[in-house]
Amino acid sequence: MSKHYVVIAEVRSGQLRQVCLEAIEAARLTAEEGDTISALLLGHNLSEPASQLSRYVSGQVHVLDHPDLEHYLAETYCSAIIPVLESLEPCAIVLGHTAMGRDLAPMLAAHFQAGQISDVTAIHRNGSELLFTRPVYAGKAFEQKRFINGPHIITVRPNNIPPAAEAGSPGEIIQHAYTAPVNLRTIIKDVITKASGRVDLAEAQIVVSGGRGVKSAEGFKPLEQLAEVLGGAVGASRGACDAGYCDYALQIGQTGKVVTPQIYIACGISGAIQHLAGMSHSRIIIAINKDPEAPIFRIADYGIVGDLFEVVPLLTEEFRKA
Ligand code: FAD
Repeated sequence: MSKHYVVIAEVRSGQLRQVCLEAIEAARLTAEEGDTISALLLGHNLSEPASQLSRYVSGQVHVLDHPDLEHYLAETYCSAIIPVLESLEPCAIVLGHTAMGRDLAPMLAAHFQAGQISDVTAIHRNGSELLFTRPVYAGKAFEQKRFINGPHIITVRPNNIPPAAEAGSPGEIIQHAYTAPVNLRTIIKDVITKASGRVDLAEAQIVVSGGRGVKSAEGFKPLEQLAEVLGGAVGASRGACDAGYCDYALQIGQTGKVVTPQIYIACGISGAIQHLAGMSHSRIIIAINKDPEAPIFRIADYGIVGDLFEVVPLLTEEFRKA
């Protein structure tokens, strides 16, 4: 009998997040021939992302479009999603391992009595068995987990599973009615506004990150300029956040965000183990530090021993010319 997979999609500043296509690919890797992959999209003014999404699913795109859903809030999203999922009876629900996915997945797992595997970076088929790879011990090791039975939920780490290719003819878009149960929008909107930069940190292909060596909030300006020229996002070490140079929304590491960009540029960051937990799986690591003994150089692919206030503006100037 064919089974139904549902990907819970997300928009950010009106755009479909890249991780949604990676979640669809994760569902495809998990599904068998004849199974259906649908998406559930929540937010406001969703016609564009819904039609984009419809090109990637083999089933339908279920849409909950309402002003109260513009920003994520656990209570409103859960109360909106659960009736739709109950009607669809999916065998699996797939989400991005984003702030929203991390919050929502366990609530759905509890409601549907489903098993959950979080932060999945790869999916392998071993005969009839599906193995889900995820990092443990702050990214120092990987474990493979499998579901035994029952419905299951997975969250996928951004930038690890390749995005899905378009799937033949576009899937049907189905609008669902939504009645607002609570109204706490102002609180969450404030948090999201603070956290959002031009490029999403978790999904950025290039991250320019600053540490205590940046010395002040003003010191982040050259890093922001480099990130802008490269089309990347700015991140930070906890040292920089604790010192008040930037918002904790930028913190990368064990107790911050985990990023896996194509290029990670660490500026004035020593390379403490807790920081490495959040960025050591980046494809290319470039470290700029004036201390040649800084531990960050042990994991860097390219190292520049020098003052970041000289090196970063030079890089920006060169990339601007390119
Ligand atoms: P420092 O270690 O002070 O390094 C600053 C670096 O800047 C030095 O290497 C110095 O040589 C260099 N520098 C100074 N001036 C310049 C200049 N002009 N040009 C170039 N280089 C310069 N940390 C995180 O980052 N993320 C986490 O999630 C995290 N979680 C933690 C959880 C726990 C439970 C604990 C105990 C700690 C955690 N930490 C985390 C903190 C971590 O241990 C380090 O203290 C922190 O990462 C240090 O930040 P830093 O590298 O910016 O600062």
